[in-house]
Amino acid sequence: HLSKRLQTVANQVPLNSRLADIGSDHAYLPIYLAQNHLVDFAVAGEVVRGPFQNAEYEINSANVNSIVHPRLADGLDAIRPSDDINVITIAGMGGNLIHRILERGIKLHRINGNEKLILQPNIGEYGLRKWLMEHYYQISDEKIVVDDHHIYEILIANKMHAKPFYTEDELYFGPVLLKKHSSALLQKYKDAYQRMQSVIHQMKFARSKQAKIKIQMIKAQMKLIQSLI
Ligand code: SAM
Repeated sequence: HLSKRLQTVANQVPLNSRLADIGSDHAYLPIYLAQNHLVDFAVAGEVVRGPFQNAEYEINSANVNSIVHPRLADGLDAIRPSDDINVITIAGMGGNLIHRILERGIKLHRINGNEKLILQPNIGEYGLRKWLMEHYYQISDEKIVVDDHHIYEILIANKMHAKPFYTEDELYFGPVLLKKHSSALLQKYKDAYQRMQSVIHQMKFARSKQAKIKIQMIKAQMKLIQSLI
């Protein structure tokens, strides 16, 4: 049984995929997909030994070791050419870390651009979208889910021949999420707006240059948000 967040990620994985789940931790996502005969093959990549050992244990207990292969490796180093991976999931990390993993994987030729990316950043969605755009990835779909009082976003991206173009609004809110204008999106930014208001209030006597720059950055974000909510 997956959390709503991971279930939403799982739902985006096409049938019969060859999946690499990077930062798999306990490997719940690939195990679920294997148990339900939704993937043909999966790598569960993990860089930390403890979680990697948990993944090994869980995969053996679930009896899916012919499908799910745990690998102790940094990022996309977990992928071997013979794996023929066509879907990559990276969930539950910051957007910064996600794009650093992707960037390194491109540099080391671990991926060739034919893989569908399913990404669930916990924070830093703007920076991740910007990185995707700059590396010719089009955002084909986006999901937003409320799970246990947290709001999570899931980005699905595919590499293109031409660089896609997204406006600042689209990078900030998500090109697909902005169109859908769901209640979860509104809730996310109403909450964010309130938090920013109180930060500005707390900083009203700040005089340092740094503080002023921070206030300006927050106010610019609040302006973007005002146009949404
Ligand atoms: N993907 C799972 C999920 O969404 O529930 C687990 C998320 S867990 C919070 C993040 C995992 O990513 C941790 O187990 C961490 O060790 C792993 N991780 C962090 N950086 C990594 C890297 N460069 N390569 C592989 N795994 C990494």
